[in-house]
Amino acid sequence: MAKKKVWIDPDLCVGDAICVEIAPDVFYMGDDGLAHVKEGMEFTGDREDVQQAAEECPGGAIIIEEAE
Ligand code: SF4
Repeated sequence: MAKKKVWIDPDLCVGDAICVEIAPDVFYMGDDGLAHVKEGMEFTGDREDVQQAAEECPGGAIIIEEAE
């Protein structure tokens, strides 16, 4: 299965922490009030919780793409 990576566009994040509630092992809230992806977070195949976080993110800030 393809490796995926997830990242957050800080310009689109509104800091409501929905993603952290859905997938706390992947996302965390930084001191800047924005969500971040934990260091080195890559996963293989599908992670439904990460997918759900991306779908529910009000800013559309969570981007999932194929890792190189
Ligand atoms: S759900 Fe989206 S807008 Fe909300 S904190 Fe996470 S990345 Fe930011």
